[in-house]
Amino acid sequence: MKIHEYQAKEIFAAYGIPVPRERVAATPAEARSAAEELGLPVVLKAQVLVGGRGKAGGVKKAGTLAEVETVTTGILNMTIKGLKVQKVLVSEAVAVSAEYYLGITIDRAARAPVLLASAAGGVEIEEVAKNTPEKIIRTPIDPLLGLLSFQARNAGITMLKDTKLAQQFTTIAQKLYRLFIDRDCSLVEINPLVLTGNGSLLALDAKINFDDNALFRHPENESLRDLTSEEPAEMEAKQAGLSYIKLSGNVGCVVNGAGLAMATMDLIKRYGGEPANFLDVGGSSSPDKMALAMRIILSDPNVKAILVNIFGGITRCDDIAQGLLLARQQADIRVPVIARLVGTNADKACALLENSPILFANTMAEAVRLAVTKAKEAR
Ligand code: GDP
Ligand code: MN
Repeated sequence: MKIHEYQAKEIFAAYGIPVPRERVAATPAEARSAAEELGLPVVLKAQVLVGGRGKAGGVKKAGTLAEVETVTTGILNMTIKGLKVQKVLVSEAVAVSAEYYLGITIDRAARAPVLLASAAGGVEIEEVAKNTPEKIIRTPIDPLLGLLSFQARNAGITMLKDTKLAQQFTTIAQKLYRLFIDRDCSLVEINPLVLTGNGSLLALDAKINFDDNALFRHPENESLRDLTSEEPAEMEAKQAGLSYIKLSGNVGCVVNGAGLAMATMDLIKRYGGEPANFLDVGGSSSPDKMALAMRIILSDPNVKAILVNIFGGITRCDDIAQGLLLARQQADIRVPVIARLVGTNADKACALLENSPILFANTMAEAVRLAVTKAKEAR
C-alpha cells in the first residue's frame, strides 16, 4: 500500500525527521491561503502515487499569490501516468545546496532490511542503480540489532564527507529505521534529502510503502488509503478472496496456487509473451469464483488470450470447467481461451467442455506456447 507524500511527511514529522513547513490543498483558493500562511515563495507539488512528478511538470515554484492560484489550477488539471491529480502540497521553498538519497527497503537475498544512501540524489534511484550502482552505499541491517550508530555514521561520512553532517544523517537514518519497523513498511525513501542553505539536512520529498501482508495489524493505515488510486479490479478480486495483481502484458492467467501462478508467468516470459496479471483462484474453487476470475481478467482491455492452468488437487477441474461455462453465459468472450486442466476430475472437465470453443492443451508448456501465439496473432 502506497501513501501520498503529504501523508508520509506527517509520519516523518511525528518521528522527528525534519520536513519543510507545508499544507495540503484541494483547490486553488486553499492553496492561496496555505501560501499566505507559509509565506512566499512556495513550491507546489502534485500528490499522485507515482514517481517522477518533477519530470512530468508536477512540481513548480510560485512567487506570488496569483501565481500560486494559476499554478495550482494547472497542476489540479494534470493526469500523471494515468492518475488524476486531486491534491497539491504547498511547501515552503527551500534553498538547496545539495541533494542526496536515503532509503530503507528489504533486501530479500540478504533476508534483512538494507539502508541505501547516495550522493546522486534527486534523480530516479532505479536509474542510478542500473547505470552506476557503485554510487549507492548499501548497509545491511541486522533485524535483531537494528541500525547501529556506527553503521549509519559510516554511510553518512562516505556520502557527505563531513563528520558534523554525518551526525545529523545518523539521527535521521535511525529515526527512519524505527519508522520502517514500527509501521511494517516495505519501503521508506527520502529523495531528495537536501542540505539547506543554513547547513542542515531536510527531507524534501517522502515516500512510504506499507507491507500489505502486515496491514492487518495496522488499523491506523486504513484512513490513509487513497481508494481513487487503486485498481478497481484488484479491489473486487480481494473482496471475493482471489489474489489478483494487474500487470501490463496481454496473456491473462487463471491459475490455482501462488507457486503455479508464478511458474506460469515465468513460462509465458520464457516463450516470449507477457502476462497480463497474476491470479490465484485459491484452493477450493467454486464455479462462481472461477466465473468472477474470468470477468476480472476480461475487464482488462489489453488481454488478448486467456490461459487457464489448473493442477487439480483440492480444486476440482469440473468446478473450473463449470465456471468457464458460466463465464461464457455471462459475457461474450471474444479472446481465445486455452485450458490445461489436470488432476482431480480432469476427465469430467474435458467432457463438460467438449463442445465449447475452449482450446485444450495436455502439458503446461504446450498451453503456454499456444496462449502466447494466440495473443501475438491478435495484435
Ligand atoms: P519527484 O520528482 O516526484 O521526486 O518530486 P520531488 O519532491 O523529489 O521534487 C523534485 C525536485 O524538485 C527535487 O529534487 C528538487 O530539485 C526540486 N525541489 C522541490 N522542492 C524544492 C524546494 O523547495 N527548493 C528547491 N530549490 N528545489 C526544490
Ligand atoms: Mn523525489
